[in-house]
Amino acid sequence: MVISSYIKAFLFLTLASLVGLIYVTQENNRFFNNPLSSEIISKIEEKTKELETITYQKFGFKVSIPVYISDTISNNLFGFATINKAGEISITLNKNRFKENETYMIEDVLPHEYAHALMFVVGDFSKENGGHTVKWEKICTEIGGKKCERFVQDDDILIEKLGFTPKN
Ligand SMILES: [Zn+2]
Repeated sequence: MVISSYIKAFLFLTLASLVGLIYVTQENNRFFNNPLSSEIISKIEEKTKELETITYQKFGFKVSIPVYISDTISNNLFGFATINKAGEISITLNKNRFKENETYMIEDVLPHEYAHALMFVVGDFSKENGGHTVKWEKICTEIGGKKCERFVQDDDILIEKLGFTPKN
């Protein structure tokens, strides 16, 4: 009788682990197949609003830069800032990177990319050091960024706009 209850306990634990494993796997699939949770989306929106306010306070101009979430960008890229041929400026964040650290994505990566976007807003399209110029660093720090080092390996700006005049 004693052995039988051990077996029952063992079977129960095995089954419980299996259920747990399936659950975790499904959670992962759910994460990768679906959009970010509304909780994370609203945190991104909140941070973006905060950056808009700081930009106005520090530099005196009103901006509204859209932030897109994508799961098709290269996995080693956290995000990037772009100005397209029509002169529209936007930021894209790598959805898959939110899985490991959403706070880092919102508090570090977003302001970093925002500073790149602000460089485009003021008409500075310098590609020197991958856009990580002294001026960019200053803007990044001013808006409260944490990831504002100039010597990063990222190549995270995309300038599609044609016919611009670099203002180095
Ligand atoms: Zn950068």
